[in-house]
Amino acid sequence: MDNATQRTAIVTGASRGIGRAIALRLAADGLAVTVNYAGNTAKAEETVAAIEANGGKAVAVQGDVANPQDVERLFQATQEAFGRIDVVVHNAGIMPMATIGSDNLEAFDKVIATNLRGAYLVLAQAARHLGEGGRIIALSSSVLAKSFPAYGPYIASKAGVEGLVHVLANEMRGRQITVNAVAPGPVATELFFHGKTDERVAEIAAMSPLERIGQPEEIASAVAFLAGPDGAWVNSQVIRVNGGFA
Ligand code: NDP
Repeated sequence: MDNATQRTAIVTGASRGIGRAIALRLAADGLAVTVNYAGNTAKAEETVAAIEANGGKAVAVQGDVANPQDVERLFQATQEAFGRIDVVVHNAGIMPMATIGSDNLEAFDKVIATNLRGAYLVLAQAARHLGEGGRIIALSSSVLAKSFPAYGPYIASKAGVEGLVHVLANEMRGRQITVNAVAPGPVATELFFHGKTDERVAEIAAMSPLERIGQPEEIASAVAFLAGPDGAWVNSQVIRVNGGFA
């Protein structure tokens, strides 16, 4: 397919975990994909190679989503590589655990910078670059409904992301661009497993009536729905994809 007709997507944080699964799924659905990452070049190149091995098209672009110049460069590089941008998935995120105390301000500032300022910058560039039929999807989290201790900074950042999604959907009035969030429950990635004992993982898995944690591909399916023709009438929603972890 040539550049003029192939739809294209930017997926932030696509070197690993859920972002990698989203990049692979959107490529399998026929989109050319920009694989963004923070520092893990080898993993990002591995995602690109996996897409290419399946006959898809992808490029890797390093960039910190909290840095406005990096985010601008991410969109420019995609325009240069593929000639158009149709879908933007803001997935990059971190989850440092910290109770609400002034000695944890550093963790708070870091997660707000990456998760919330990052979302603001990526959504801002998406609003600038996308044309009619564009789809913007941001990753939130189902843990908002749980309010577990030590999730304060993370939950604050994702509550902010959901707020931005609803406002941007309104700001896109007249442009035929949808803006939605996907809020996964616990998913088998490094972000989820980090710092948890096997017992804690089992406890969390048991919270869903389906009695397991999710797989990255199960989140990618929901994102692919929103990015594809069947998702056209879904706008300004938060889709909780969590096996009933609520
Ligand atoms: P992982 O830790 O597995 O992967 C994180 C990805 O984000 C990596 O590609 C990483 O790049 C990238 N990244 C981190 N910081 C930045 C940054 N500043 N700029 C650009 N890229 C960055 O996380 P998950 O796949 O688990 O999470 C993906 C999203 O899903 C996050 O927004 C998370 O909050 C959300 N989520 C996850 C859940 C889970 O249980 N796993 C549940 C609910 C929501 P690099 O490899 O270069 O470091």
